[in-house]
Amino acid sequence: MTADHHSGKSRKEVNISALRKALLTWYDTRALSLPWRAPPGERADPYAVWLSEVMLQQTTVAAVLPRFQRFIERWPNVQALAAAPLEDVLAEWAGLGYYARARNLHACARLVVEAHDGCFPQDPAQLRALPGIGAYTAAAIAAIAYNVPVMPVDGNVERITARLFAINQPLPAAKKRIAARAATLQNAHRPGDFAQAMMDLGRTVCTPKAPACAACPLQDVCRAHAHGLAADLPRRERRKEKPHRSGMAFILHNPSGQVLLRRRSLSGLLAGMPEFPSQGWDDAPPFWPDARPFGVKTRPLARVRHVFTHFMLDLEVRQGLHPVLVDDNLPEGCFWLDPLELSMIGLPSLMKKVARSAGLPA
Ligand code: SF4
Repeated sequence: MTADHHSGKSRKEVNISALRKALLTWYDTRALSLPWRAPPGERADPYAVWLSEVMLQQTTVAAVLPRFQRFIERWPNVQALAAAPLEDVLAEWAGLGYYARARNLHACARLVVEAHDGCFPQDPAQLRALPGIGAYTAAAIAAIAYNVPVMPVDGNVERITARLFAINQPLPAAKKRIAARAATLQNAHRPGDFAQAMMDLGRTVCTPKAPACAACPLQDVCRAHAHGLAADLPRRERRKEKPHRSGMAFILHNPSGQVLLRRRSLSGLLAGMPEFPSQGWDDAPPFWPDARPFGVKTRPLARVRHVFTHFMLDLEVRQGLHPVLVDDNLPEGCFWLDPLELSMIGLPSLMKKVARSAGLPA
């Protein structure tokens, strides 16, 4: 059964050739002027396209513009970037997101110089084999710099496509279906301009919350617009609530001011990691029904919330004084520790929160 919106006989296919023509005509007069772009109809520099796409992965066009200019002035081509010391590239990248991207950028430049004679490959599969280049960036470089008829599908293209075809199926399940539809839009005549036209349309007209359908060159062919669904698409799966668990963690001091820790079992959650003795949230024995771990009376001190991948945990933190002084008398896996050493024993983040809730350094 199709998830595209339709109502029996009234269903109409999207007129793809009319759509291409309308969008390219719009682009010819409205294309955003960006320093990494060539004018409509001309081919862009692959180095500039690659650099801008990597920068745009985490930042807006407005933020990228001055940074792109500085990069391109300092390293005007891939050979110059490949020859630059990594530290300089990392320093120039500051504020543009994860440094791993800058490392990949540098590694990619070197590989393009060493393995591809300084020319970015045209084939999306070969582009994807380069460091830091995923499916979207590979398709963007191939289409924009080499006019290969592939469609780069980012959030903008996904949104426009879901609307054009009135795809009701929610994301992320609809991703493949939307990408397949988006691929049918691409044209062999001006693939680079078409891809950039889609990007511009998504940034300026077919925006996420309030699509400006009245100003859109595609309103005559758009199914979402015809059905009054534009602002509702694409739909998204509602996130499932994580299951909730609760338990207790015990901060037990001895008369010397040390705190009691326990090495967790080698299997299960937080396997082998040190913890303040805890109970009730992970099914591990022992369980102290009266909140009296090792027979020690405790009183409530604080509450700590922690989100694991599969559940949400609320821990009641309790405090007590343990009379035992010597390690030899302690239950298996337990040991006393000076609170000042807590930061050195690799506490998991849940237990760091527990420590901080009790005013201990962690
Ligand atoms: Fe987006 Fe509206 Fe244009 Fe359809 S008509 S592509 S919903 S702006």
